[in-house]
Amino acid sequence: MVRDESQVGTDFDLLVIGAGPAGIALAAEARAAGVTAERILVLEKAEVHSWIIRKYYPVSKPVLANYKGIEAKCEGVLCIPDLTREETLSYLDSAIRDTGVQVLYREEVSRIAREPDGRLLVVSSGGMFRARVVVVAIGILGRPNKPSYPIPAALKGKVHFDVTSEEIREKEVLVVGGGDTATEYCQFLVQQENRVSLSYRGRELTRPNPINRDSVLALERQGELQILWGSRIDGLEPAGQRVRVLFSSGEPAPLEVDRVIYALGGTTPENFLKAAGIDFEGRSPRLTEGFGTTVPGLFLAGDLTAGSKGGSIILAFNRAAATMHRICEEHGICKLR
Ligand SMILES: Cc1cc2nc3c(=O)[nH]c(=O)nc-3n(C[C@H](O)[C@H](O)[C@H](O)COP(=O)(O)OP(=O)(O)OC[C@H]3O[C@@H](n4cnc5c(N)ncnc54)[C@H](O)[C@@H]3O)c2cc1C
Repeated sequence: MVRDESQVGTDFDLLVIGAGPAGIALAAEARAAGVTAERILVLEKAEVHSWIIRKYYPVSKPVLANYKGIEAKCEGVLCIPDLTREETLSYLDSAIRDTGVQVLYREEVSRIAREPDGRLLVVSSGGMFRARVVVVAIGILGRPNKPSYPIPAALKGKVHFDVTSEEIREKEVLVVGGGDTATEYCQFLVQQENRVSLSYRGRELTRPNPINRDSVLALERQGELQILWGSRIDGLEPAGQRVRVLFSSGEPAPLEVDRVIYALGGTTPENFLKAAGIDFEGRSPRLTEGFGTTVPGLFLAGDLTAGSKGGSIILAFNRAAATMHRICEEHGICKLR
């Protein structure tokens, strides 16, 4: 999107990349720490905030405050109890509005670089900005994990990585995965009157929270969900209007379904962060106190700081408070609360 730079400005104290729970919490914490709204900018690649919640949460999903068993004790200015998806979105909506901070939508950030004067340059699809402090809050689901085998082009529209791209009702569906997202998708698709199978590589569901685990096991007992325990998919092929799913060693026998939904999680956008100069330890960025990186003035937030177990909304809120505390201590753009 090309902006009128005279209206937006290009020089900020704090620039936040990504308007999900973490980015929104950062803006709220910065305002609470005394940074004026005009000195903060949020850039969001989608046309609305909280894109990941809109895309990956099924419509009827309960949003759990202690998701993945992460303690639901709030330490910053934002906090949620258990809510519905819609209530969560409207809470985040008001949180952004209350900050008075400008969010520019359809602004995908492609590059961050340090300038000779120590400020950070942020290049987005719409322009270039400079800021004393930049927080990257882009999450891990920008590119969801894909299976190792190719998905034939002929299966376009029949294979998804979410349950919101199309309304799926009264169909035969295979969900692939074994975590909270996969088990929530199974429950949602059963409610939508689909005949659902779950392909899971393990023999026991250890990753989902107890509510999701017990719910899918109950569905299996009631004959409303088929769980293909210990199944490994070798590939997919077109079968008329349907998808044929081929399993390793022919076990179970090939399955024909109308839709395949992958719920394999996401990964840290390693190349993007490394190109900004951030050092890594193995597959994870090296983080300093307050979720700073090895680039002065450049911080990470939310799911990007959560490690392999994954994050939650309250974790993103709490870590934003810790980050802002550190920013106030180190960068003099705000006051410690
Ligand atoms: C299916 C599912 C169910 C879940 N259920 C729960 C639950 O019940 N309770 C709970 O607490 N947590 C839940 N979570 C986890 C929770 O959604 C995440 O922990 C949280 O959204 C992380 O927030 P974030 O701001 O770090 O990242 P995200 O929510 O991923 O937000 C990142 C934002 O950055 C934007 N962005 C990405 N790349 C760029 C770029 N280059 N430039 C600009 N913007 C960019 C994205 O469009 C997005 O809006 C669930 C997750 C999933 C996938």
